Parts: sequence; C-alpha cells; structure tokens
Amino acid sequence: MVNDFDTIAAIATAVSNAGIGIIRISGQDSLKILSEIFLPFDKNKDAGHLDNYRIYYGNIVDYDDIIDECIVLIMKGPHSYTREDVVEIDCHGGVSVVYRILNLVISHGARPAEPGEFTKRAFLNGRIDLSQAEAVMDVIDSRNETARRNSMAQLKGSLSDKIHQIRSEVLYQMAFIESALDDPEHFSLEGYPQILLQYVDKWVSETDKLLNSYDDGRFIAEGIRTCIVGKPNAGKSSFLNALLGEDRAIVTDVAGTTRDTLEETITVDGITLNVIDTAGIRNSADQIERIGVEKAKREMELADLILFVADSSMPLEKEDIDILKDIQNRKKMILLNKSDVLEDSKDEYRQIYDYIGETDPVISISAKYHQGIDDFISELKNMMFHGKIDSNQEIFITNVRHKNALDDALSSFQCVRRSIEENMPEDFFTIDLMNAYEKLGVIIGEAVEEDLVNQIFSKFCTGK
Ligand code: GDP
Repeated sequence: MVNDFDTIAAIATAVSNAGIGIIRISGQDSLKILSEIFLPFDKNKDAGHLDNYRIYYGNIVDYDDIIDECIVLIMKGPHSYTREDVVEIDCHGGVSVVYRILNLVISHGARPAEPGEFTKRAFLNGRIDLSQAEAVMDVIDSRNETARRNSMAQLKGSLSDKIHQIRSEVLYQMAFIESALDDPEHFSLEGYPQILLQYVDKWVSETDKLLNSYDDGRFIAEGIRTCIVGKPNAGKSSFLNALLGEDRAIVTDVAGTTRDTLEETITVDGITLNVIDTAGIRNSADQIERIGVEKAKREMELADLILFVADSSMPLEKEDIDILKDIQNRKKMILLNKSDVLEDSKDEYRQIYDYIGETDPVISISAKYHQGIDDFISELKNMMFHGKIDSNQEIFITNVRHKNALDDALSSFQCVRRSIEENMPEDFFTIDLMNAYEKLGVIIGEAVEEDLVNQIFSKFCTGK
C-alpha cells in the first residue's frame, strides 16, 4: 500500500552552473502540477494526459513567460522511485533556472522536500528496506570503486537477503517451539534442543562473519588510516610521491625537513589510503622538529596500518631499531627502499628480521624510480582484506547501526546457546530468539522508531 503523502519537490542535481539540472516531484499532484506548467512542443500532446514512462520535450512556462526549454520524464506509481507518481524536469543547469522552476512547482502546490525524503518514501512505501535506503546514500558517498561496488550490492539487497534468511529460520524455530508447547500430542520436543543448538551455532557463525567484515568494511568506505614512518632520508616522502604520482611532499637531501605531518587521501586500485606522512621520528634538539616528532607519535597511535620505510642501501641503524621497537605490536608493512642502490637490498638489511614479526610483509621498493609499487598494492590488499576485496560475493558491513544490531543479535543467540546447555525449559529459548529476531529486524527497518528513521534520512542530500 502506498501511503497518502503530500506532493514534494526538490532540485536533485548539484546547484551550480552545469549542463543540466533536474527538478524532481513526487506525490499524487505531480502530474497535475506538471500539466499546469508544461507545454509540449508536439501540439498533439495534451499536458494533462501524458503517457507513463515517456519523455516529453517542451517549455516550462509561468503563464506567458517561457522559463526554459526542458524534457520531462513521467513515472507513475507504483513503479517509480518512491512508488508515487514521479515527474522529473530536466532543464538547463543554471542556478537561477533550477530555482525558478522549483519555485514555480511549489507555487502550484508542491512542498519543498526534506533531505532524503524521496528515498524515505521509497522505504515507507515498502519499495526498499532501511539497509537498502542507507545504501543509496553510501553509493553517492562512495570514495572508491570498491566502496561503490559494496554499496551497490547492499542496495540490491545482499545484506537484506542475508538478514531475511536468518530471520526466517529463527521464526520457523520459534513457531515450532510455540506449536509444540501448545500441542504436545502432535509436536514432540524430545531431542529438539540439540537440533536447535545446530541452528544456533549456524546463526552465530553467520552473524559473526558479518560482524567480522566491519573493519574491512570501514576500511573500504572510509579509507585506511596509514602512517608512514622511518628515519629521516629513508625515502618516506619519495614513497608518498610515488603513490600520489605527483610532487606534493617536499623531497630533499637535508635530514628533518618534513617537519609537519601531511595528510593525503590516495585511492589506488579501489583502496583508499588516508596517508599521514610524518616528520622523521627521532630525538631532536630543534624545537619545531620536536613538535613534529610528538605529533608523528600521536598519529602513529591512531593508525590502522603503519608503513615502515627503511633505507636499505645502508646498514640498519639504532634509529631504525628504535622505531621498529615502537611499532613492534602494530599492523605494519616493511618497505625496504632504495632497492635500486643495492641489487639485493634484503641481504644487506637482514638484521631487520630480528625486529619484525614473522607475518609482517617485507617489500623491496625504489620510491625514486617507482619500482615495487604494484607489489606494495597487492600486499596491501592481501593484508587488509585477506584477498576478499576483489570478490563480488563478500558482504561488508560499513554502517555502525548495522554493527550494533548484529552485536545485540549475536548476544541473544549466545543466550539461547547457554539456555540449551543449561537444560532450561524451551520457552526460555523463544525469549532470546525473539530478541535476536527483532534486533536483526532493526537493520532492515522493521519496527524501528520514527525518530530513528527521521535521523537516518536527515543525513541524506536534498532531492535524493
Ligand atoms: P624522508 O626524509 O624519509 O621523507 O626521505 P626523502 O623521500 O626526502 O628522501 C631522501 C633522499 O633519498 C632524497 O634524496 C631522495 O631522492 C632519496 N631517495 C628516496 N627514495 C630513493 C630510492 O628509492 N632510491 C634512491 N637511490 N634514492 C632515493
């Protein structure tokens, strides 16, 4: 059923001078409003009787005043974005043109749409669920190809399908327990707890898998906070430049010139790195440099990944060792730089293996000559996404709201498991199963409070 909402309108494109601007109208008066302001060029067409799923060419007029030459798109509900009658007016993308048309539409009875209100209607009218509605915004906000692909999969229902599957299995088991308790003659609960236990274990592992994807999901959506460390002149700025493919950082031969931190967002091969290039971490008498050193240490604490750049053309020094000790327990990659200077830089630098973990990847690079960058990227994918990033099958959770709901569902499943192990009566199971069922429902927007829905959609852009 489509709710009986009023008619809303908004500019759906960015408001700046551009080739095309789009004004979107949704609601039961959309077509009526259009008929009052649109004159098709085809004299055989009556603006009051335009066909569905057609595009018409004509003028938008305010009585005698021709405002712009446009094409209009007719999408009658329920097969439209909002499930209501939707009209889109494609006009020239000038700021005054789009505002004039929007105001005209409003003066004919539409109301200015709130942020995200079109998508909110798609949700409230049951065309998409809440996780899909959130994915719409994620597609718009995606910073890289991987984030876009993940958001698109969520929009198509990858997460919703998984949630629906677990919920329907939970519902079935709850119904079985209820029936057996009501009608013990026909349904026996003999040996049932062991069967339920197998289901619970399966749900726990499925929920766990989704939860475990959250870190990867966050790295995909927001980027990996990456800190580049190493002694002065090791080649940190050169490495950053090699990644950036342009000369942003200062590269010099004088030790300690990269005094402040420098942040860059770099997207390489579908992965976004929020790279912080730090001042060389070392003890310095120079006050400005000392501030840089302190800041670098703070940044290091916050990083998801540390890239240790070493000058492998010279023996390992105390400065290197001090930094390696500082980052001993961190997720890190070792970049043996200046591989062009020594043929087998790893041999010269073998002592470094005494200070790094067995699983820490070690890559030979030449930042100056842009060598080893591909190896670095493939190791990065391996390390941060366990090779899963290129798979289209994987569902990555990127939304903290979903993560919290999954956390709650997981605890409820664990409570069911405990009740089974402690031989509790069957009606105890249903209480926690119901909790898990409801928590999973929060993800897809079932029985969620109106405030939460409003809060979610308020983060959207106007016109979406
Ligand atoms: P940072 O202090 O760690 O940021 O080091 P820089 O990136 O400023 O590099 C210090 C010096 O090492 C510069 O003269 C660079 O040109 C040089 N350098 C950096 N990477 C390489 C490399 O891969 N090979 C060679 N031969 N020199 C490099």
